[in-house]
Amino acid sequence: MRKVIVAGNWKMNKTAKEAGEFFAEFKPLVKDVKNAGIIIGAPFTALETAVRETKGTNIKIAAENMNAKESGAYTGEVSPLMLKDLGVEYVILGHSERREYYGETNEIINEKVKSALAHDLKPILCIGEKLEEREANTTEDVVKSQIIGGLKDVTADQMANVILAYEPVWAIGTGKTATPAQAQEVHAFIRSLLTDLFGAQVAENVTVQYGGSMNDGNAAELIAQKDIDGGLVGGASLVPAKFTVIVKAG
Ligand code: 13P
Repeated sequence: MRKVIVAGNWKMNKTAKEAGEFFAEFKPLVKDVKNAGIIIGAPFTALETAVRETKGTNIKIAAENMNAKESGAYTGEVSPLMLKDLGVEYVILGHSERREYYGETNEIINEKVKSALAHDLKPILCIGEKLEEREANTTEDVVKSQIIGGLKDVTADQMANVILAYEPVWAIGTGKTATPAQAQEVHAFIRSLLTDLFGAQVAENVTVQYGGSMNDGNAAELIAQKDIDGGLVGGASLVPAKFTVIVKAG
């Protein structure tokens, strides 16, 4: 049976000090949560604090990006070995902001996904269509090519360590959430695609999160959909009380 997992993506927000303050408030609020796994994606500079402050709790930590290489002349980059060294367990890859502002292609993202898995980091692979793609009725084509491209050469066994996050780009940071029915339709398509690629057993067990203006008011209805297994939450994950409501809705 697949797991419901609610993850926060802080994006470029919170200093290490602010991260410490967040966890001091958040930990007691979620300490008895059993219904969902909890992950916080923090910027590189806050990861050490985040890992330290959540040690021995039910909160796991994700990086928001990484380079596929282990080391070398790649100024400004961070490698999987560096994340492992800090005790990070997950890494968000292929976020639409990385695709849009930093030119990440499905090929680049695939290298990162394979590297994460090879280094025992669990990728949260983000996929999703832009507004013009939805309006042109190409949502399924876009999502399909992102999944096939992003998961190329990933084995069925490795899929036990992969989370997918469907994030329609038009819903990110816009306050315009996909309706539960709209999201469920794409999630069902993703599950059927995973069945084609990896078999029914694997497809049944992969956690597929929804992301895009998920908040304390709409999370329960979205996560109640058959193929929506949690969320990847941006803005609403920055505030402990708000994020707690979403976690408990999972
Ligand atoms: P918002 O929740 O702020 O729309 O961001 C969603 C997102 O991009 C999570 O990765």
